[in-house]
Amino acid sequence: MNEPARVEIKPEGIAIVWDDGHISLYAHKYLRINCACAGCIEEWTKRQLLDPITVPADIQAVDYMEVGRYALQFLWSDTHYTGIYPYETLRALCPCAECKAAGSKKG
Ligand SMILES: [Zn+2]
Ligand SMILES: [Zn+2]
Repeated sequence: MNEPARVEIKPEGIAIVWDDGHISLYAHKYLRINCACAGCIEEWTKRQLLDPITVPADIQAVDYMEVGRYALQFLWSDTHYTGIYPYETLRALCPCAECKAAGSKKG
């Protein structure tokens, strides 16, 4: 499994440099909407409780911390902080063309 070598919170998004050299740049809102905490996703049905419309367009990650050696946790400007993003999920969410193409091949 790939791990982030470096995480940078930039005005235009959250940049992760992976240990294999791959670089992911996530828009703040994109990651916030993909939060999988119990407040945003119903545990059993996986139904999204978070209405993306309620997330401000100018949402920003204010800070982050590492959770164990497997995930990142972000503190968002809307004070939401319960979301834990496992490295595997983050890598799967990478919006770059290369990862999107790889993802669509897998189906
Ligand atoms: Zn959440
Ligand atoms: Zn990628």
